[in-house]
Amino acid sequence: MDGKHDLKSMDIKELGAFFQTLGAPSYKAKQVFAWLHRGVVSFDEMTDQSKAFRAILSEQAYISCPKIVRKLESKLDDTVKYLFELADGECVETVLMRYAYGDSVCISTQAGCRMGCGFCASTIGGLHRSLLPSEMLDQILAAMRDSGRKVSHVVLMGIGEPLDNYDNVVRFLHLLSCKGGLNMGLRHVSLSTCGLVDRIYRLMELKLQLTLSVSLHAPNDTIRSSIMPVNRKWGVETLLTACRDYINATGRRISFEYAMIDGVNDTPACAQELAERLRGMLCHVNLIPANPVKERSYQKSPAEKVERFRRILAGFGLTVTVRRTLGADIQASCGQLRQAAR
Ligand code: SAH
Repeated sequence: MDGKHDLKSMDIKELGAFFQTLGAPSYKAKQVFAWLHRGVVSFDEMTDQSKAFRAILSEQAYISCPKIVRKLESKLDDTVKYLFELADGECVETVLMRYAYGDSVCISTQAGCRMGCGFCASTIGGLHRSLLPSEMLDQILAAMRDSGRKVSHVVLMGIGEPLDNYDNVVRFLHLLSCKGGLNMGLRHVSLSTCGLVDRIYRLMELKLQLTLSVSLHAPNDTIRSSIMPVNRKWGVETLLTACRDYINATGRRISFEYAMIDGVNDTPACAQELAERLRGMLCHVNLIPANPVKERSYQKSPAEKVERFRRILAGFGLTVTVRRTLGADIQASCGQLRQAAR
């Protein structure tokens, strides 16, 4: 922003090095880092810092802070959906959800998306830009600050393809888990990808404790390529091989997302084919009745087809759940609100 330094994208070490260039001692880094991750929106809130240092900081650096442009609260459950405006006017969506194990926040990683999945609202209009690490953190901090709720889990399942913004996402994960900040264990984090195989292998090398979710949505190339263009680059077999390698290298279970679209991917034959392909894998299958999107003609599979599909998978010994729909009354599936605001 105006050539100023983005403080919230730095870790304590980097803050320390930056402060030294300003002639300030590096021990201040820990204090400032704590303030930033407590969600302060101005330097004046850093009351243990001298006025002079705060003045230098505000000249040289900025604290990113999204504006809430819309906020929708579900009457059905405790889901809250935010539309945040970033410094350059781009908007992203963030959803706060209540589960038995605690509050979870679903964040966006890009403004728009270039993956082109046929059933998804986020990709209509393409990719505008990738988010900075600070802008991903901000969604959590702003949602906590506004709601007064404490977030125990984070899912990267909002707008955008996290692995298409690889470096910033990895830096964000590092900041999220830093002591002195939100200090979140990555076991409490899920990252969802449409299946960028080369990046899955890069992520694998980091051996992070997060849960990798893979948006599979079809058991074979014919169906998957017709709804997900990414499949024309990396087909189902290549993707599943990457998933098996990932599981072997990290010891972590993969979660497969399967949006059920009426008449497209929800037949018993599809269930059978899927089960055969996933058999023996350390995985979990999440069935999600597809959310209808105004601009698309797809319909969600009726409950009885979802149940039939679930039973077939379970019959093969797979762990499978039907995802509970939260915030159905507030367009809580990502991309819809941003799209409506354009
Ligand atoms: N780009 C990443 C993460 C963002 S989308 C990915 O593809 O995984 C989060 C999840 O919502 C993905 O599984 C995506 O396929 C799914 N999704 C998108 N539109 C949907 C819709 N209309 N109904 C149900 N799920 C949808």
